[in-house]
Amino acid sequence: MKRLATTRHKKHKTAIAVLMCFLCLFVASLFGQTKSGSHSSRKPPSMSPETKELVEDAIGVVCTQAKLDPKSSLAIDEMQARPSLPTHSPEARAGAERAQRLLPIAKARVVASLRQLAIDYGFHKSRKFTVRMNQAIARISGVQRVRPDMDSRDNASVFLSRPRVITFGTLFLAGLRSDEGMISVLAHELMHIADGDNDSLRQLVAAVGNKASDLTGLDIHGQRAEEITCDLIGAMAARQYVGDTPGYESIARRLARSIQHNCVEQDEGDEDHLSPRNTIRALLALNPVLVRELINDREER
Ligand SMILES: [Zn+2]
Repeated sequence: MKRLATTRHKKHKTAIAVLMCFLCLFVASLFGQTKSGSHSSRKPPSMSPETKELVEDAIGVVCTQAKLDPKSSLAIDEMQARPSLPTHSPEARAGAERAQRLLPIAKARVVASLRQLAIDYGFHKSRKFTVRMNQAIARISGVQRVRPDMDSRDNASVFLSRPRVITFGTLFLAGLRSDEGMISVLAHELMHIADGDNDSLRQLVAAVGNKASDLTGLDIHGQRAEEITCDLIGAMAARQYVGDTPGYESIARRLARSIQHNCVEQDEGDEDHLSPRNTIRALLALNPVLVRELINDREER
């Protein structure tokens, strides 16, 4: 298996058609090495300096909330540094219950977000794409269970041989301490399932990657495009959930939870993944509405 320098979910394909999605952190640090491939720029970003500043401000809100919010998601480098957690531990059990409870909600939000993204990127009028979309939605509908797994630590994975189950590392389950954080990651995994083993949604994924590359000047193609699309669907799904479930907490605090596991100290990527902080950067560049909501509602409580 390819060594991952950093971060989250990774989709692998093998001859037996296994789809895996890892949150696999800082393996490189275990070897005392780092990779810097994710930081290579292809061309200057098309974002204006003003927009770039707004994105950086919004990142500041997300990562400040990571320190202030008692329900903030742990940063992935912090999860990685912790000892494995037994499945029967109270934190892992609470996380597993949360994930299972939110799975139907995440499935519905992913479908709605996918439909919205297809409209945003102009694919909704294509009959061929609509057929693929319907197949993707059917795959999402089939997912039924979250399986806690101590050995998976801070990873989440889906095997196409068992397409109804999302395997979740117990450290990861415990580190996502809010509904918003959990829905975001469930949605990320569901998007991998939607794309499936033959990359049904590759046109949409490529379009998102191209736009993200253009806006940020980062190289976001191939697997990186799929990962950022999964993250985007995750953020969109969580935002819908926040809109549908009003509460007393600030909107910014709740929205921040959907992406703040990327607020790492050691910011490393690899050829398949942007670094975590560049992931937030690209996500927010793609999602100006989220930037505005984070900034406009930044008052802390
Ligand atoms: Zn992934």
